[in-house]
Order: sequence, then C-alpha cells, then structure tokens
Amino acid sequence: MSLLTIKNARIVDGSSDAPSDPVDIVIENGRFVAVGANEAPASGAGETIDAAHYIVMPGLIDCHVHVIATTANLGLNAELPSSWVALKSAEIMKSMLMRGFTTVRDLGGADVGLKRASDEGLIDAPRLIICGKALSQTGGHTDYRGPYNNRDVSWYGDRLGTLGRVVDGVDGIRRMAREELKNGADYVKVMADGGVSSPSDPVGYLVFSVDELKAVVEVAKGFGTYVSGHLYDDRAINRALDCGFECIEHGNNMSAATVKRVAKEGVFVVPTNITYDVLAKEGAAFGLPPESVAKIEDVRANGLACLTMLHEAGVTMGYGSDLLGGMHPHQSGEFVLRGRYIPAKDVIRSATLDASKVVRNDEIGAIEAGRFADLIFVDGNPLDDLALLTEQGAHMPLIMKGGVAKKRASAI
Ligand code: ZN
Ligand code: ZN
Repeated sequence: MSLLTIKNARIVDGSSDAPSDPVDIVIENGRFVAVGANEAPASGAGETIDAAHYIVMPGLIDCHVHVIATTANLGLNAELPSSWVALKSAEIMKSMLMRGFTTVRDLGGADVGLKRASDEGLIDAPRLIICGKALSQTGGHTDYRGPYNNRDVSWYGDRLGTLGRVVDGVDGIRRMAREELKNGADYVKVMADGGVSSPSDPVGYLVFSVDELKAVVEVAKGFGTYVSGHLYDDRAINRALDCGFECIEHGNNMSAATVKRVAKEGVFVVPTNITYDVLAKEGAAFGLPPESVAKIEDVRANGLACLTMLHEAGVTMGYGSDLLGGMHPHQSGEFVLRGRYIPAKDVIRSATLDASKVVRNDEIGAIEAGRFADLIFVDGNPLDDLALLTEQGAHMPLIMKGGVAKKRASAI
C-alpha cells in the first residue's frame, strides 16, 4: 500500500479559465482517493509533495496517434520487421509520456502486445487505447501498393508496422472487425474517406459501400463499442454518420451544415491540425512521397478554419496529433496551433475532461477520487501560455502515471 499527498495543488483541467484554489490530492495504490481542502491525512502518514510553486494538471490524453509509425513512408513502415518496430514504438511511446501524455488512443497499428507491455510496466509508456489495425478497402487509405502493384496484402494483419488491413465486402469487413475485437481492440477504426499518406485515394473518395459501413457498425455495437472514421469531406462524413459512426477523425473539410449536424447528434470530432502543419513544412524531408505532399495544402487550411466553427457549435473535441516517424516530437504543437483559434481553457479540456469522453474512459482525464493518479506539474500557468505544454516536457518537472513518478525533477 502506498500513500502520497500533494499539498497546495492549484488544478488546471479546462473546466475554468483560472486555476482552482489550492487543494490536497491524496493518492493511494495508484488512484486518487480524495481531492479537496484539508484532505491531507494526519501528519507522518505516507509521502508529501508540495505543489505550491506549480500548476497541477491531469495527465494529458492524445486521442489520435500511431505509435508504430516509425517513418512517414507508411508503405516502407509496413515492410519493416515487427521486432524492430516494437522496440522503436517503445521509444516513441516513452517520448510521448515524457511530453506529459499519460494516455494515448492509437488509431491504427498498435496491437494488444504493446498495450499489455505498457500495462505491465515492461516499458515506460502511456496507457494505450487501441483499435488494432484500421480497416481499409482495396485502393483505400492503408493500401500502399499504388497503381502498378497488385501483390497480395493479406499479410498486412500480421505485421506490427502496418497501420491497417485491406478488406472488401460485407463478409470481409465483418470478419476483420470481429477479429480485431477478439484480439483486444477497444473500438473499431475505419478508413472511410481517401487520405494524404496513401497513393491512390483522393480526399473525398467514397470508400466502402453503405452496406459495408453498416455491417462494421453492427459488429462494433454488438461488442458494446463504437466505430471511429478517418474522414475529411462532407459527403463521406454524412454517409458515415447515417451508417452509425460515432467519432470523426480529422474532419477538415466539414461545411457549416455538417458541423451543425455533428453538434446536434453529439458526435465527437478529433481534429489533427499539427500533422498537416508539419507535413506541409517538413513532410518530404521525413519520407512522405511526392503524391502525398501535393494533397496537403487544402486540408491544412480547411482544418484550421473548421476549428472555430466546431468550437462555436459546441462540438466535443478531442486533442489529436496524428504524427508519423520523425515528426512525432511535434506532438504538443497542436496545443499552440489550436490556441490561435479557440480559448486556452477549451484547448486544454480537449486533452483532459473532453478527451476522456472521446476515448470513453472515465478512469482518466480528471483529478477526481476514483480515477487513475495520472498528473503533471507545470512550471507556470498553461491557461496564460499553452507553449508551456510544448518543448518535450521541459516545463513539466513531475509526470506521474498511476501514482508512480515517471519523471521527477530533483527540486520536487
Ligand atoms: Zn486518418
Ligand atoms: Zn491517423
């Protein structure tokens, strides 16, 4: 049994535009057990940390990552040996944790082995929420073959370095979704639009048939979970919502009418602006093929314009980064980018309180009795300066996951 009290904690979690009054946070066996004024146990019991010089935040949640993306060239990533990809993913995840992200939702690639390794403490990594492999049709967003190659890709499901599998037909998508859920997926991810990082699918391409989309939603709902879609354009988004999708990834090209529908139906959206920003500037240098670089500019500009609409409509947004390969160090850049369009409080909430809703896990995302003791100390107030959450955790002297300090500066 371990007992730890954090005294004088002024909490910033996105629920208010000012830090809370100082409170005591009591942590026992990896969870918060009491949060409030005068909650500290009688003196001498357990360890005490004084947070008077810092701001305390819940551990951050990134709702859209690919921990197995060791390069932006996803066709090449697919071919890499799984053993090497696993070790490289561990390094990528450790860096995410050191940026203050104590939970990440993987949108394609990570398997139950990585999740288990994190849960067991075999590697220092964020908690992982996974879909296994994303599902894509032939010629869709995880089909990296291009026009002159019809080689078999049934092996995609067995390699750690692939983001997705290629499936066709109602029976095919049904079976693959069931297989991913059997293998430990927490939800199902469908590539329901074209994309940037793949060779033969223009953005706005209506991939999969309505029958295929409905079949996969039925499977997910039967398992008590949901389908999230890689989606950009209005037509693809509305079709996916008609079929029962409950979460939109990216959503860059949404019209005002679609934003209104999304708000009304309570669908979650995870914008991932930082990836287009970095891809536009550095994508080619990081191995993104030229046909992908050419697709970026429209989605980049539209995605930023969409943020204000989503915010004004009251849509619940999750924080998402979606970076690949050498671009991973920009993971926290989404805070600053979004902060140019929407209030800091709401940007923060997308990585804490709202993120917990988006990833459907009420054991994370808030400093509240009963939840996992995931928290960070910040050297300054991120409500005044979101850049305090960037620079690879340089302004986070304490990063705690499940009551265990994963980073602790000597001053604390
Ligand atoms: Zn995507
Ligand atoms: Zn993605």
